[in-house]
Amino acid sequence: MADDLLKKLNNKIADSYKTLPLLDTKEDFVPGEGTASASILMIGEAPGYHETVERRPFVGKSGKLLRQVIDEVGLDIKDIYISNIVKARPPENRDPSPAEIKSFKPFLDEEIRIVDPKLIVTLGRFSMNKFLPDVKISEVHGKLQRIEWDYHVKFVLPMYHPAAALRGTKVKNIFIDDFRKIKKIISWLEKTASRNLELDVKEALF
Ligand code: URA
Repeated sequence: MADDLLKKLNNKIADSYKTLPLLDTKEDFVPGEGTASASILMIGEAPGYHETVERRPFVGKSGKLLRQVIDEVGLDIKDIYISNIVKARPPENRDPSPAEIKSFKPFLDEEIRIVDPKLIVTLGRFSMNKFLPDVKISEVHGKLQRIEWDYHVKFVLPMYHPAAALRGTKVKNIFIDDFRKIKKIISWLEKTASRNLELDVKEALF
């Protein structure tokens, strides 16, 4: 079962702590959260203090906002798998370095393959740049992107990071408005895919 594959993957990451950056012990590793059958995969940046203590992604201040908005827009947290680009806390919560992102990449890639979500929601520019290296978040947030990744078509919805939404009302309102689109996007993806149509995101209005 895919959930067993996720468990195995998490054990593998924890067991690799000596060769991975940012981990002094197995316990510094913060695994993704959710079931492998989730339709939506949300990818953040890196765990912070609270995430490291609880060993769960997005449980600190920005996580509370994220989970509150998920609830407010009527999404079911059980249908969402939450993970991070880098799976341990950078000192002082600094940005993850390119080398750190590269070290965790094979594990995140495997996680994406196992969950195989209908929609990938990127939170902030680091996870967005994994799929869309040449875009600006201010130009593409809330706009569904059809991309090729790992030889497969994937649908990616770039979002601001909830920490940015906490910094000001303007971004917070945009963040909430973008989140409101997710339900419509999922049902569009389900309907269109079930009829086996060529999915053209430009024709879909959200
Ligand atoms: N910010 C992130 O990007 N990820 C977390 O897990 C927590 C805060």
